[in-house]
Amino acid sequence: MEKRKIETLCVQAGYEPKNGEPRVMPIIQSTTFKYDSTEDMADLFDLKTSGYFYTRLQNPTNDMVAAKIAALEGGVAAMLTSSGQAASFYSIFNVCEAGDHFVSSSTIYGGTFNLFAVTMKKLGIECTFVDPDASEEEISKAFRPNTKALFGETIANPVLSVLDIEKFARIAHKHGVPLIVDNTFPTPINCRPFEFGADIVIHATTKYMDGHATNVGGCIVDSGNFDWEAHKDKFPGLTEPDPSYHGLAYSKAFGKGAYITKATAQLMRDLGSIQAPQNAFLLNLGLETLHVRVPRHCENAQKVAEFLEANDSVAWVNYPSLKSSKYYELAQKQFTNGQSSGVVTFGLKGDRQRAIRFMDNLKLACIVTHVADARTCVLHPASHTHRQLSDEQLIAAGVRPDLIRFSVGIENVNDIIADIEQALAK
Ligand SMILES: *Cc1c(COP(=O)(O)O)cnc(C)c1O
Repeated sequence: MEKRKIETLCVQAGYEPKNGEPRVMPIIQSTTFKYDSTEDMADLFDLKTSGYFYTRLQNPTNDMVAAKIAALEGGVAAMLTSSGQAASFYSIFNVCEAGDHFVSSSTIYGGTFNLFAVTMKKLGIECTFVDPDASEEEISKAFRPNTKALFGETIANPVLSVLDIEKFARIAHKHGVPLIVDNTFPTPINCRPFEFGADIVIHATTKYMDGHATNVGGCIVDSGNFDWEAHKDKFPGLTEPDPSYHGLAYSKAFGKGAYITKATAQLMRDLGSIQAPQNAFLLNLGLETLHVRVPRHCENAQKVAEFLEANDSVAWVNYPSLKSSKYYELAQKQFTNGQSSGVVTFGLKGDRQRAIRFMDNLKLACIVTHVADARTCVLHPASHTHRQLSDEQLIAAGVRPDLIRFSVGIENVNDIIADIEQALAK
């Protein structure tokens, strides 16, 4: 059969009912699963056979949704997590332990930055941050003998820098480590990082994938392409016997499924950040329309960005799909139809207060922490998510004090622009 297109995968992948089964993916709202014999269940605990026994590790609804996301990204295996933060943490912790080090782009989501810079450090895992636009030579200097991964965000939230995935993949592979990419903002509709050499992709499904701001969740997808055995000295956790499973070695027992199996069998078992099956069901409803919503978000955002760029009270506009963006060429190369996401950032002429006055006068666009859902929303990071930082620290983090993050929804774009216009006029 011909490989199905991404639109079909959004609607149908992950679940194919058999004769007489429900047409809609069912919610398996059960913590536990029944077996006929003690031995049947014992084999599951030893990972000798696959199956469900306890929802803290795996649940059929979650697995169907994860399989859909794996299909969308072109990966071999995936798992859902309770949040995007849990996905970021597991993606690194699955290959790093105390004494290890990893390298990350400095322009990443604020929550991820704090996880890497502060919390991972407390676990004995050190992160070096690099300017993603620096040269390969410059970024390579951050690598050490104990470096285990390279991390970046396809389109950074809120800075909107675009990651050169091929460059990052070359650097990672030259140093024998996987490239892990947070693909939350473009979603697989606009970018599939595996096609440019990324090894692992993570998502905050909370954003466009759910798309309706109803449930927090995350996902980790493995391309199956990283050869753990070829770098076994660096990744004993994947290639050496695991004493908590009677000496089983993931790379030998599960091949291309090694990374996700280890993350499930070890990290999910011990740390328990499973997504609720109810939330996985809601996430799947979002995924069914992802291919319809994302292009609309992008069309509207393009018009909003062009409107802002032409407006006299606007000091600057940053949108990777604008010709004036320094990431325009990269966006054309990496993204479907050059479309990036629905998020536009800009600054107004005047001081910080001007941004606050503008936001307070918006009527249709709401002030919320959230980003990337159907409803247009807006945030001033300097007053909200990043309010602990001084102006100097904000600039160092790439977040200008006047930066307004405008998340363009799927309403009629003329209504969105009219709202901006009346708020600017006040
Ligand atoms: C929101 C977000 C996260 C964290 O996701 P949560 O579901 O809020 O934990 C990670 N990465 C990016 C790019 C995000 O926008």
